[in-house]
Amino acid sequence: MAPAEKKKDPRDWRGLTPPLAEWILDFVSSQGFQRMTPVQAACVPQFLGNKDVVVEAVTGSGKTLAFLLPLVQKLVRLEEPIKRGHVFAIIVSPTRELAVQIHSVLSSLVAFHGPSAEMTPYLKDDDSKRPDSTVPVIVPQLLVGGTTTTQQDLSFFVRHAPNVLVSTPGRLVELLAAPQVRCPHNTFEMLILDEADRILDMGFRQDLQKILSRLPKQRRTGLFSASVSEAVSQIITVGLRNPVKIAVRVKSLRDGNVIEDRKIPASLQMSYLVIPASQKLPALAQLVEKLQPRPQRSIVFLSTCAAVDYFQHVLPSLLPSGYNLVPLHGKLPAKAREKSFARFVNAVSPSILLCTDLAARGLDIPQVDLVCQVDPPSDPKVFIHRAGRAGRAGRKGLAVVFLHPGREEDYVPFLEIRKTPIEPLPKPHVSVTAEDAEAATATIRSILRSDRAYHDKAQRAFVSWVRSYAAHQTSSIFRIQDLDWADLGRAWGLLRLPTMPELRSWDGDRTLGLGETDWDAFAYKDKVREKARLEALDAERNGTAAAAAADGKEDEERKKRKRRNTEAWSDKHERAELRTVRREKRHKRREKEREQNMTEEEKVKSMELKELIEEVRRRNQTENEDKKEDEFDGF
Ligand code: ADP
Ligand code: MG
Repeated sequence: MAPAEKKKDPRDWRGLTPPLAEWILDFVSSQGFQRMTPVQAACVPQFLGNKDVVVEAVTGSGKTLAFLLPLVQKLVRLEEPIKRGHVFAIIVSPTRELAVQIHSVLSSLVAFHGPSAEMTPYLKDDDSKRPDSTVPVIVPQLLVGGTTTTQQDLSFFVRHAPNVLVSTPGRLVELLAAPQVRCPHNTFEMLILDEADRILDMGFRQDLQKILSRLPKQRRTGLFSASVSEAVSQIITVGLRNPVKIAVRVKSLRDGNVIEDRKIPASLQMSYLVIPASQKLPALAQLVEKLQPRPQRSIVFLSTCAAVDYFQHVLPSLLPSGYNLVPLHGKLPAKAREKSFARFVNAVSPSILLCTDLAARGLDIPQVDLVCQVDPPSDPKVFIHRAGRAGRAGRKGLAVVFLHPGREEDYVPFLEIRKTPIEPLPKPHVSVTAEDAEAATATIRSILRSDRAYHDKAQRAFVSWVRSYAAHQTSSIFRIQDLDWADLGRAWGLLRLPTMPELRSWDGDRTLGLGETDWDAFAYKDKVREKARLEALDAERNGTAAAAAADGKEDEERKKRKRRNTEAWSDKHERAELRTVRREKRHKRREKEREQNMTEEEKVKSMELKELIEEVRRRNQTENEDKKEDEFDGF
């Protein structure tokens, strides 16, 4: 009897037509990648076959190689080497950190292609230029701004004639404007937007238009993201020709029947914890302490740069010992940002990255076991990206989001509708009491009292946090009116609530039960800063005293001065805040207008979403507690 024919594995690296080059196969086996991931199996042949692609696949499912492999294969299969000054492909990333990562994956690929690898030593040299080659070679250039000037990048381009650019949008626009950099239609082949829905967001729109205007229309374009379908209406602006849509979802099975598609990897446990603001940090501390095995790397998301800047000083006193805390946000100087990130990625002891959405997308950091969203993201599409820093490439991971009791709990059905279901965090992980919260508040306050600079940071950060809360896109779930100000004040360890427009109609105690503080005596630890403060205080006292003596209203003036002094910071910022509130009002009005201008189809969609939320909420309320274990299939 003939042996049963072995079933062909659709994810076999050697099963592609056209086949991948031997050196590429050597690379993947050196990495220990035994099979293609589903997205690679679906995307590589299409992209090699000259199709435009729009690829939506869960976080950590290998999208980077899904675009890099066809790119390098096409380049080295060219009949002739690419001319100096001509660009073959461009990869755009929304952040520097992600661009660095893509560039490094590309460089490790290049090392396996002999003729390209020969060029690499020259690229590190600032004086010479790389030699010409008789066969096609891959020569990458990383363009990220911050650590190099445009002039330096251009000088690299002119000397080494790179043909694959990996870049953030801003620096790319600058480089493409130089006459030396050319993307002629007979050479330029591929444009790749990684985290495409982010690149298509408002914030990058202008840069993207400028980039597109410099590229030939005849080209291959690939859009990649775990949430690219969020940008369907903008995709047309990139000029895709009849793109192939590739969607890799995870099937969640119950009793053998497919019950749903999930937009999150099977290895990632998605959970939430309903908890008052004042208990969030103690809960975080317990989480990293009690999780078994101990999370090697954790990422904690806050909503603003100022919040990261503040809590980095406070958290070490609340977290269990033995953890490195590494802050990362977009307002750090480029060098500090680079250093921070490297410190986290290379840490050998357990570490926690405290960051903003800067680190939400794309970053593939090994051993991230836990992601904690202390604040849910303002943009709901960022949710899966943040969570997806853990549970990558089949590794187990836990993602937790903290929600305030009440209206914020509606985020759970909202996410379910978006195919990102989350479950309550299993109990044993965390049990925080009101006493734990009080102790945390006391600890933070004692830190604040040790240096006026911390108090300043706290006030600034709190205002920025409230603003970002007001900017939540899911504004029916995250409402300023529902915030518990006194609890928030304690959560942040504030010595008083800042004066801000959002609090105007609030008649609670702004001193948060602390009574009057002697603000005049509250000193900066930094001697120079303290001296300046005392001088300013003196000058104000003398000036005010002289003026008061002149018109005999000394007492009145002293009272006024005291009031002013107490509210010095707030006063300075009041006008700016008012402007922000006006801006936000304007924004809301425009949103309303947008809603009014929606097409019938869009209106129906929006109505359907609302109804769905209601439906899921009803279902959740009546649902049996003991759910059957889901089985997960997929990468
Ligand atoms: P995505 O862009 O989809 O979020 P990445 O491209 O960053 O995912 O890849 C996630 C991880 O999976 C990386 O560490 C990568 O090295 C690994 N990986 C990529 N391809 C494979 C494969 N075929 N088999 C196993 N692991 C892979
Ligand atoms: Mg990616």
